[in-house]
Amino acid sequence: MAADPLFELANHGTAHLPLSVNGRAAYGIQGTATIAAAYDELMGNQGILQELTGHPARFFRPGTAYYDDVAVEMTRKLGILPVNFTETS
Ligand SMILES: [Zn+2]
Repeated sequence: MAADPLFELANHGTAHLPLSVNGRAAYGIQGTATIAAAYDELMGNQGILQELTGHPARFFRPGTAYYDDVAVEMTRKLGILPVNFTETS
């Protein structure tokens, strides 16, 4: 799939956790609790994708789609575009 130009593999986290710096949960799943843990959640899978595809993933969406503001800013500063969706009820 990585070799097919019709597909783009993007980063969806290392352990599929909410990306938080204070452990905020989403959908009953405990988020990362520190900046270091959020960094690891983001960059662990980034390294795996780099190895598999030969280039860094350009986009990231966290597990459960939850980010806090610090985690969004960290993602941007690491050169990855944070993406998400909105839910309507
Ligand atoms: Zn998911």
